[in-house]
Amino acid sequence: MTSVDTMAGRIAQIQQRIADACARAGRAPDSVVLLPVSKTFDVDAIREAMALGLTRFGENKTQEIRQKSAALAGQGLQWVLIGHLQTNKARDAARDATEVQSLDRADLAEALHRRLVNEGRTLDVLIQVKTSSEPSKFGMAPDDVPAFLRLIAADFPTLHVKGLMTLAVNSPDPEAVRACFRTLRELRDRLQGEHIAGVSLDRLSMGMSGDFELAIEEGSTEVRIGTAIFGARTYPDPQ
Ligand SMILES: *Cc1c(COP(=O)(O)O)cnc(C)c1O
Repeated sequence: MTSVDTMAGRIAQIQQRIADACARAGRAPDSVVLLPVSKTFDVDAIREAMALGLTRFGENKTQEIRQKSAALAGQGLQWVLIGHLQTNKARDAARDATEVQSLDRADLAEALHRRLVNEGRTLDVLIQVKTSSEPSKFGMAPDDVPAFLRLIAADFPTLHVKGLMTLAVNSPDPEAVRACFRTLRELRDRLQGEHIAGVSLDRLSMGMSGDFELAIEEGSTEVRIGTAIFGARTYPDPQ
């Protein structure tokens, strides 16, 4: 296994597994985007990834985006916030994030919109949906998503909805994990039938190091991969 024990080798292996999962699902290999998740890793690790052509990184905390984007300024990097966002950090996200995938409630949407108006910016967002019953997971209940999309479309024009995001249940049972991904896709399919003006639901961000192949089989367009690229995180990072 020494051949994959470099970042280049690990990324190549992930790309191959993405391509294989796409083939099994009868999908085009370029229908799934890899989002490398650099949370908790330092700028040296990000530089190593940049040297391999990666320019877009997932982070869990606005503070880390701020520090890393300052250290790596001017290099055309994109910072994607995937972690739970407190409303009092909306200003930081509106200023520093390229995209937020963890939008899960109306007061956060309102706070982001207000800050984005101040910054003169718009922001691509995904709605984080809770597809499992695990109390530790964030996300909006599926039933609440239709009204939330209408609220954003009507009242918060700086927020450009591009799709949905979820974290599957932590379970050794692949069918339990698959059910979470399927719930997100079926919700998306139903919502697309409602044709809410200004809302796109093309993107489904689902799948992490331990479950991305199942997610691809269920329709993921974006897999968020941390450990399998950067290695084990040395300090815990609550989701
Ligand atoms: C940490 C994290 C990931 C990546 O997890 P790995 O298991 O390290 O691939 C993906 N999505 C979210 C929301 C995360 O917080």
